[in-house]
Amino acid sequence: MAAHDPVEHKYVYDFAEGNKDLKDLLGGKGANLAEMTNLGLPVPPGFTITTEACKAYLTTGREPDGLAAQIEAHLESLEREMGRRLGDPDDPLLVSVRSGAKFSMPGMMETVLNVGLNDRSVVGLSNQAGGNDRFAWDSYRRLIQMFGKTVCEVPGEEFEHALDEIKRAKGTHNDLDLDADDLRGLVDAYKQIFAKHTGREFPQEPREQLDLAIRAVFDSWNAERAVLYRRQERIPADLGTAVNVVTMVFGNLGPDSGTGVAFTRDPGSGAQGIYGDYLANAQGEDVVAGIRNTVPLQELEQLDKTSYGQLLGIMARLEEHYKDLCDIEFTIERGKLWMLQTRVGKRTAAAAFVIAGQLVDEGLIDLDEALHRVNGAQLAQLMFPRFQLDHEFEPVAKGIGASPGAASGKVVFTSARAVELAAEGESVILVRRETNPDDLNGMIAAQGILTSRGGKTSHAAVVARGMGKTCVSGADELEVNVPAKKFTVGDHVVNEGDVVSIDGTTGKVYLGEVPVMPSEVVQYFEGELDPETIDDALVRAVHRIMTHADAARRLRVRTNADTGADAARARRFGAEGIGLCRTEHMFLGDRRELVERLILASGEREREDALAALLPLQRADFIEIFREMDGLPVTVRLIDPPLHEFLPPLEQLAVNVAVAQERGEDVAKEEALLAAVRRMHEENPMLGLRGVRLGLVIPGLFAMQVRAIAEAAVAVVRDGGTACPEIMVPLVGAVQELETVRAEAERIIAEVVGDSGVEVLIGTMIEVPRAALTAGQIAEAAEFFSFGTNDLTQMGWGFSRDDVEGAFFWRYLELGIFGISPFESIDTDGVGRLIRIAAEEGRAARPGLKLGVCGEHGGDPDSVHFFHEVGLDYVSCSPFRVPVARLEAGRAAITTTGSDSR
Ligand code: ADP
Ligand code: MG
Ligand code: MG
Repeated sequence: MAAHDPVEHKYVYDFAEGNKDLKDLLGGKGANLAEMTNLGLPVPPGFTITTEACKAYLTTGREPDGLAAQIEAHLESLEREMGRRLGDPDDPLLVSVRSGAKFSMPGMMETVLNVGLNDRSVVGLSNQAGGNDRFAWDSYRRLIQMFGKTVCEVPGEEFEHALDEIKRAKGTHNDLDLDADDLRGLVDAYKQIFAKHTGREFPQEPREQLDLAIRAVFDSWNAERAVLYRRQERIPADLGTAVNVVTMVFGNLGPDSGTGVAFTRDPGSGAQGIYGDYLANAQGEDVVAGIRNTVPLQELEQLDKTSYGQLLGIMARLEEHYKDLCDIEFTIERGKLWMLQTRVGKRTAAAAFVIAGQLVDEGLIDLDEALHRVNGAQLAQLMFPRFQLDHEFEPVAKGIGASPGAASGKVVFTSARAVELAAEGESVILVRRETNPDDLNGMIAAQGILTSRGGKTSHAAVVARGMGKTCVSGADELEVNVPAKKFTVGDHVVNEGDVVSIDGTTGKVYLGEVPVMPSEVVQYFEGELDPETIDDALVRAVHRIMTHADAARRLRVRTNADTGADAARARRFGAEGIGLCRTEHMFLGDRRELVERLILASGEREREDALAALLPLQRADFIEIFREMDGLPVTVRLIDPPLHEFLPPLEQLAVNVAVAQERGEDVAKEEALLAAVRRMHEENPMLGLRGVRLGLVIPGLFAMQVRAIAEAAVAVVRDGGTACPEIMVPLVGAVQELETVRAEAERIIAEVVGDSGVEVLIGTMIEVPRAALTAGQIAEAAEFFSFGTNDLTQMGWGFSRDDVEGAFFWRYLELGIFGISPFESIDTDGVGRLIRIAAEEGRAARPGLKLGVCGEHGGDPDSVHFFHEVGLDYVSCSPFRVPVARLEAGRAAITTTGSDSR
């Protein structure tokens, strides 16, 4: 704010002035307190200091002009309303000071209750409560404790020790056994602790207490844990937090008072009912802190039937108003119910689907809104196999669910041992303090990865997610001792070879083997469960929402599949064609020998013989795939990888030659291979002789593949089927490359197809930056483009995936250079820009040009939204991702007014 701004900036809002849509300005807590106030619900009066005030404070290092006066004015009107003055010695008004950002964030300052108490007003408070000294001194000691800890950074344990001390002296474990004198003594002890750590007395001036607490909330926005959390969750760093000042109500006034939390439905399963906890004679923070045992909320009915009934009424009202599951905090003060917080509650993936379905049934939301309320990440989570858990299995530790899935196996501590045991067919869990690039082979060999250090962006987490491998990171209860080949957790010692189970979704770690059960959502996609008849709320909800997504979406969804079996499964999962059929695998296994012959061919004849032998094998592969995809388009990519990938490694050949020579055997073939491998060696195979370049230098190679595709199509059609092949040329960077391949291909196709009615499209991948930038020219020779976003990302950034994911990505994520791996979610600014340019210029040159994407981005939720927005025709992804892509394509196509649910 400019110093001379004539219009004073409004920094403070009374609860009656706000509403739930002002989360940016008032934070989540403040906006919802305002909403409840305006609904006429019993909310203790108060006001909210805006995030703008916080931002101004954080940039300038002091409270903005006008803030103090506005707080004063709002405090005065609050005092008038309540008929009490803050900290008045005879009849004090007390308030809580509560942080509240737009998104709830661990690591932010918590709440200070009972602000306004001091050595004099504590007596006034006792009088207000009819001479209840115990209550007054209990409230005062809580203030010193919370204020000391959160505002002045006094170590919380010191207060806890002092409390334990008094309880021990009294011979009790229960706070409630402490009487007023005990608590008075505790206040003295707390004051000493406070003075010792801060070098000053506990502030007696109520307004100073309030101002210091407000400032501490502002400062907590930049607390280390909060900063880390924001970075991980990709919450912008400049939102700031609001501060709520709320009139105190007291749950600790006696057995007719208490405090509780509740959900309007089960946040675990979505089931309807009453879910909550209640604690009599306590202040709010006791429930969360688990100081005493809470009782199920239902028991409140016995304790206070009126408040219970009123609470249920309010919960129903909130659900109807927010049209969603809400969680709430409330307090009962001597039989009077007060609402202290509500928000749209967090829920599990399963509950998200179930609740969305229920709300549609109840007429609260429509199907568009239901679709908006779930997401592909949740669906993906529901598709992993899960542990079948019953009471026998108690987790021994809990870390961070870094990469989802369920895995059991023998514990190993080194990469080498992981590789060894895996080669023997064992499933292994690689356990490390943290992983580093040297562990890569072990991570590949392991079923799952468990580390005792590191968060969601640690090396282990990033690499595991990249590989789709189950990982729990940062399980810090584990003491990992690699040299001794063991870890300890609690009283348990786990040695190499012992079995553990890890859940990469929940982060839980179990000893022994926990049985795994298949996902019912996958069973449904496989067609094994009928959603019309089955009594399973989740499957029915998924079915309903998927059906709606399919109806809503504009993007088509294809799959990447190289075999008939993959194609068949993807089709069951809803794939509408194949967007990428790689032909590499058709050169592997017992066909390697033919490839060797092709490479070693010393003349035209030999080469033609080798190709002629490969032709029928490829044709058979294509026939199988065309049959499975009957009538749906199949994009076949001509061979892409460098041919030396099909030869044995250099070292192995060198040894073979040496051994054979020793024995005096004939080494002619081995030597020829060795020479070929040496000749074909490339420093940067990713940038070498591959893709279209192979087709241009090895005569007959692409021709053979084109012929196999066309012949397969004709064979299927002759059998009464339908085949829609699309031939895709990889790695094109210049239109001339494509024109050369195309001319030959068209000639062969015409010859093979004859009058069979088969139509074969010819198009190209756009995966080299130059292709994207010259797309207008390339489109002249292409009937379709498919964006190969893996290579486009590699070449756009100039790094190779295999080299970087293990080597330095974790560091880039830690530094925030990117928030998520660009191999996981498309980099919309850079690589995305290339896609936009190519799509626009390609379509300008050839209207109706078909545009798709293949590569794992096709199944990534955020990327799908981007591809929708750019106007592609389809995405193609691995079979398991097809449902995720369908769902997200549907979500991208609908527009709703719903708020974002982080
Ligand atoms: P958190 O975001 O950690 O839940 P809150 O600001 O909600 O922090 O407060 C912590 C606890 O204190 C909650 O149980 C809340 O209900 C309680 N509380 C907050 N303000 C008041 C108040 N004015 N009167 C009584 N209890 C309160
Ligand atoms: Mg709360
Ligand atoms: Mg590629």
